[in-house]
Amino acid sequence: MPIKVLDKHTIDLIAAGEVVERPASVVKELVENALDAGATQIQVEIRGGGIGLILVTDDGNGIPAGEVELAFERHATSKIKSQDDLHNIQSLGFRGEALPSIAAVARVEILTRAEGDEAGTSVTLENDVVTARRAQSRNRGTTVTVHDLFRRVPARLKFLKSVHTETARVANIVSQYALAYPEVAFDLAVDGKPNLRTAGRGKLLETIIEIYGATLAAKMLTVTGGGGEWSGGQEKADAGITVAGMVGAPGLERAGRDYLSFFINRRWVSSRLLSYAVEEAYTGLLMAGRHPVAVLNVTLPPAEVDVNIHPAKSEVKFRNESDVFRAVQRAVRRTLVAQMPVPQINEPVASFTPTLPRREAAAVLPLALSGDTVTAGPATPLLAALPVLRVVGQVLNSYIVAEGPDGLYLIDQHAAHERVRLDSLQRERARGKPEVQGLLEPSTLDLTPRQDALMKSILPSLAGYGFGLESFGDRSYLVRTVPALVAGDDWPSMLRELLDSLSGGARSGWEEKTVNSIACHGAVRAGQVLSLEEMRALVRQLEQAAIPHTCPHGRPTIVRLSAARLEREFGRS
Ligand code: ADP
Ligand code: MG
Repeated sequence: MPIKVLDKHTIDLIAAGEVVERPASVVKELVENALDAGATQIQVEIRGGGIGLILVTDDGNGIPAGEVELAFERHATSKIKSQDDLHNIQSLGFRGEALPSIAAVARVEILTRAEGDEAGTSVTLENDVVTARRAQSRNRGTTVTVHDLFRRVPARLKFLKSVHTETARVANIVSQYALAYPEVAFDLAVDGKPNLRTAGRGKLLETIIEIYGATLAAKMLTVTGGGGEWSGGQEKADAGITVAGMVGAPGLERAGRDYLSFFINRRWVSSRLLSYAVEEAYTGLLMAGRHPVAVLNVTLPPAEVDVNIHPAKSEVKFRNESDVFRAVQRAVRRTLVAQMPVPQINEPVASFTPTLPRREAAAVLPLALSGDTVTAGPATPLLAALPVLRVVGQVLNSYIVAEGPDGLYLIDQHAAHERVRLDSLQRERARGKPEVQGLLEPSTLDLTPRQDALMKSILPSLAGYGFGLESFGDRSYLVRTVPALVAGDDWPSMLRELLDSLSGGARSGWEEKTVNSIACHGAVRAGQVLSLEEMRALVRQLEQAAIPHTCPHGRPTIVRLSAARLEREFGRS
């Protein structure tokens, strides 16, 4: 084919793809425009995960009647004038690409009124072309309505996840900007129902309560003094870099990194660098594999950060990465040290029933793992069932020592209990009758906006396991029954963690994740002292499990040191 310049519509579609990846990107761009316009109130409404409808209303500056169509031209912006301004970006937008990109992949209506204009202006664009324009009354501000997103881009539509996942992403964007701008009142409605509302009184802690709930908020620490607002309580950490916000006290930990929110000059960004900086500040204060909660704004001279590296502007490049890293790490660490006594890390007290010196216990494990490991997967016919085992004791508060017909067995108590719990869940599930525990007093479960969106989609599946949950107003659920298996556990945390772990993934894995987290959450932990009776009961149950040799994550539950091996090791054979 000869080389040709593409037609305008094709060029627009290609460019739009980079800015508008999914409904949440549209919401992000429109909310950023509202914030740039100085709005104090922003209302967002979506239907059908944003594919049916997205509506964003603000009370900001509005667009003058004569400039409305111009706002939809590619690279038309009121925020910068020339190349020089690129080094000093003070606004969230500056590329002049959002409105034309959205108009290239949806039907858009804008109703806007600027200060000084007699009336508002309403303009409709379809397929990038203005199809209607008229005067219409409204107060100062702007409303953008987006219908039928991606209807003409089937490839994009196919790539979207379920309505619930897309809704969760939108809820997350609105939550992040509500955290970044505590002085702005945000309102999100999903399919006609309120999802999130912030008061906009300028108090970060208040916004954290509104989004994450009071229980989590009670464990947040303000980064060095002040009241938690971005303006107050800031830490002049390093030349020109200011770190402000709140971080969770040690002990407040989450399974994933979803509770780390970072803003650079109040732009929400995703940044591995900043995640590492915060996690490093928590070194020694969190359990391995767990992540902290943080809401931080880093203020630095605009020339020190390049926000123009991606059309979606969600990633930034720092001129001096190590300065930023150090400033954040230090500010967080100082906050933790100043406001929280650092807990003594005690060596767990050894409490073996018949004592096995620790040195030896440690020596057995590698031996067992090197030669005689029993790591039979589900399909191993050799060890379809476990032999009958006699419990001898516990080592390192984590492993049960048992004697079998052919040597010594070490059982990972957590992995074994997970397996046992999973087994009984699956049996109940197969019978179609979960063992249910009614709660004496119905309990309420409050969720974040994103968790709530996902909860809607797993409610029926949870019911199948015995969770009797009813939606009860704004992001609250009334819990009347729980599976008997988790009745004594911290099941609210389990449910929240489950929802957090679902947000990104494919729907097909949800069922499995649900079962696994019910099985895992209440299971005996490593480090927990067990009585001989408890160990015997656990080993009996494990012997009866259908696949006793691995935990639900595929790790071994049991390793064996054979009699022959023992004899070899002691030079008897
Ligand atoms: P950018 O935000 O990068 O300038 P956009 O395509 O998002 O580009 O918007 C183009 C222009 O339209 C903006 O520069 C601004 O002048 C105007 N505009 C868009 N949304 C709003 C709004 N909600 N309130 C006031 N002006 C707006
Ligand atoms: Mg913009």
